Amino acid sequence: MGKLNSKIPDGPLAQKWTTYKASAKLVNPANKKKLEIIVVGTGLSGAGAASALGELGYSVKVFCYQDSPRRAHSVAAQGGINAAKNYQNDGDSTFRLFYDMIKGGDYRAREANVYRAAEVSNQVIDHFTALGVPFARDYGGTLDTRSFGGVQVSRTFYAKGQTGQQCLLGCYSSLNRQISKGSVKMFPRREMLDLVLIDGKARGIITRNLVTGEIERHGAHAVVLATGGYGTIYYLSTLAVNSNASAAWKAHKKGAFFANPSFVQIHPTCVPQLNQYQSKLTLMSESLRNDGRMWVPKTKNDNRPANDIPDEERDYFLERRYPAYGNLVPRDVGSRASKERCDAGYGVGETKLAVYLDFRDAIKNQGKKAIENKYGNLFEMYKTITGIDPYEEPMRIYPAGHYTMGGLWVDYELMTTVPGLYAIGESNFSDHGANRLGASSLMQAAGDGYFILPNTISNFLADEIRTQKISTDKPEFEEAEKAALERINKLLSVKGKQTAASFHKRLGKIMWDFVGMSRNEGGLKKALSLISELQEEFWKDLNIPCSGNEVNMELEKAGRVADYFELAQLLITDALNRRESCGAHFREEYQTPDGEALRNDQEFAYVAAWEYNGEGKPPILHKEDLKFEAVEMKIRSYK
Ligand SMILES: Cc1cc2nc3c(=O)[nH]c(=O)nc-3n(C[C@H](O)[C@H](O)[C@H](O)COP(=O)(O)OP(=O)(O)OC[C@H]3O[C@@H](n4cnc5c(N)ncnc54)[C@H](O)[C@@H]3O)c2cc1C
Repeated sequence: MGKLNSKIPDGPLAQKWTTYKASAKLVNPANKKKLEIIVVGTGLSGAGAASALGELGYSVKVFCYQDSPRRAHSVAAQGGINAAKNYQNDGDSTFRLFYDMIKGGDYRAREANVYRAAEVSNQVIDHFTALGVPFARDYGGTLDTRSFGGVQVSRTFYAKGQTGQQCLLGCYSSLNRQISKGSVKMFPRREMLDLVLIDGKARGIITRNLVTGEIERHGAHAVVLATGGYGTIYYLSTLAVNSNASAAWKAHKKGAFFANPSFVQIHPTCVPQLNQYQSKLTLMSESLRNDGRMWVPKTKNDNRPANDIPDEERDYFLERRYPAYGNLVPRDVGSRASKERCDAGYGVGETKLAVYLDFRDAIKNQGKKAIENKYGNLFEMYKTITGIDPYEEPMRIYPAGHYTMGGLWVDYELMTTVPGLYAIGESNFSDHGANRLGASSLMQAAGDGYFILPNTISNFLADEIRTQKISTDKPEFEEAEKAALERINKLLSVKGKQTAASFHKRLGKIMWDFVGMSRNEGGLKKALSLISELQEEFWKDLNIPCSGNEVNMELEKAGRVADYFELAQLLITDALNRRESCGAHFREEYQTPDGEALRNDQEFAYVAAWEYNGEGKPPILHKEDLKFEAVEMKIRSYK
C-alpha cells in the first residue's frame, strides 16, 4: 500500500479515457446483481453513483445522515455547473475547460483526471437536462450560460441561484427510480462510524442509526465514499453546519491516504459575520461577479454611505489590479485582494471587515428586471439576512471558508489506497489542484458519480465475482463495531462542562486566524500547539447530555469535532511542509513583490499524500510527482 500508483492510462491525453473504457474489465449482468456496493452520501456524487450503479444492475446500499437524500449539502449550491458545450461559440472546448482548471488550480492537479472531468462535463449537462433539471434557457430555447471566475468564456449552466437544488432533485428522482425498482436500498439518518477491512480490502461499514442509537453492520464487495468536504473545520463557513470529515477521516485511519489537506478554498463573496453567536455564514454566489463590481473607498475609514461616495473616490480594486479578468478573477485571488484592502484600512461597515459588491451600473445598463431574473433569489436572501436592499445599496461581502480541494487520495479509477474503497465528489482530492474554479464542483461530483465511477468500479469488481456475500458476522465487523462503541462511550463518559459546539468554535477561530487565507511558519506552529492544548481540554471537559441510545445531536457533534482536532493537525502539517505559495495555499514567506502567490515547481510540483501512522505518531508523506505534458507550467497571471 506504501507506493502510490495513479494508474494513468498510456496514450495521448484526449484518448486516455476512451482507451481506459475500452480495456477495463467488465462484469456480466448476471454477476452484477450478486455484487453489493455501499455508497455513503447522497449529494450529486453519491446519489449519481448509486442510481447509475443501480441502473447497471448492482445491488446498492446508500447512506446519509439527513432524513432525506435530497437534503445533502449539494442542495445549497447556487451559481451553476460548468460544461464545455461551447453553445456561445466563444472559443470554448474540452481542452480549454481542462486548461482553465489546471491553471486555476495553480498546476497542482493531475492532468489525466482533470481532462477526463472536462470531457464528461457535456454528458453531465445532457443527463441533467434529460432528468428534467430546469436550466435557464435563452430566447431561442437553447440552454443559457454565464461566466464564472478564472475563465474568459461563458460555460456555466444555471437554474437561477438554485442550481444545486435543481440538480439534486434530478439526482433524487433517478435515485428514487432505482429504490422503487429494488436495485438500491436507502438508509437515511445513518452516520458511518467506521470502515471495515477484510484481508486489506474495504468490505463494509459500521453505522449509527441516528434515531434509535443502534450500532449497525453493513457488508459489501466495495465501498464508495461520497461524503463531501471538510470546510466546517473553520466552524464558520458557507457549508451546511452538519457537513463533516469523519467518514473520510475514519477511512484515513484505516489506510486511505489523505492528499493536500491544506488546500482549502476561502470564497471571496460571503455575507460577513454579523455577531459572535452565528453558527454559519452565507455565500453570495460567484455568479454575482458577472455583473457586480467590487470596490472600497479610496480613503481609509471613509464612513459615508456607499451611494454618497462618487466614482472617482472609489477603488475598483480587482479591475485595477487584474484588468484582463477584472471582477472575474479566481476565488483565491479575489479573496486575498479583499483581505489586503481590509488589512490596509480600507474596509467598510462597522467591523471594517467587508468590501462592496455593487450592482448600480448593471441595473442602470440592463434594467432592474434583467438583474432580478438572473439573481432574484440571491438578492432576496441577502436582504433577509442583512436588512439591506442590494437593488438600492451595494452588498457588503467578505471571504469565508467554502470548499476543500484536499481529500482522500484517489488514482485514475477514483480508488483510494485501500483496495475496494473509492472516494468521489468533494471527498476526494482529485481535480482542482490548489484552487477550484467556480461551478466545477457540481460538474466533478456528478461526473464522478454518473459517468466515471460506474466505468472504473467494474475493473475491481470483475475479480470479485467469486467472492460470496460479505458476512457481517466476521471478526473484523465485530472489532470495528466494538471500537465504534468504545469511542461513543469515551465521549459520553467525559462528563465535563463545555459543549462540542463551543470547542468547535474555538478550533475554528484558531484555524481561521493562523491557517486561513494566509499562513506563515510561526503562525502554523502556534496553531499546532494551541490545537493540541484545546484537544486535551476537549477530552477532559466535554459535556454531552443524555445517552447514546436515542437521538443525540450533541453526541453526533462531539464525534465530528473530535475528528476535526486530528484532521486540523494533519492540515497544518501539510501547510508547514509546503514551503511555497500556490492557489489558495498562501504562505506569506513565498510571495512576489506585488503580493501574488510564488510557486516553487522545482521542489513542490507534487501531490502530498499522507499516510496515517498510528496515534501520536507523525504521518508519513508520500509524493505523487505531477507531470505536465499537455500544458506548460507557467506563472499564473490574471493581469
Ligand atoms: C453555499 C455553497 C454554494 C455552492 N455553489 C456551487 C455552485 O454553484 N457550483 C458548484 O459547482 N459548486 C458549488 N458549491 C460546491 C458544491 O456544492 C459541493 O462541492 C458539492 O455539492 C459536493 O457534493 P458531494 O456529492 O461531494 O457531497 P455533499 O453534497 O456534501 O453530500 C455529502 C453526503 O455525504 C453524507 N455523509 C457525510 N458524512 C457521512 C457519514 N459519516 N455517514 C453517512 N453519511 C455521510 C451526507 O449525508 C450527504 O448525503 C457550493 C458550495 C457551497 C457551500
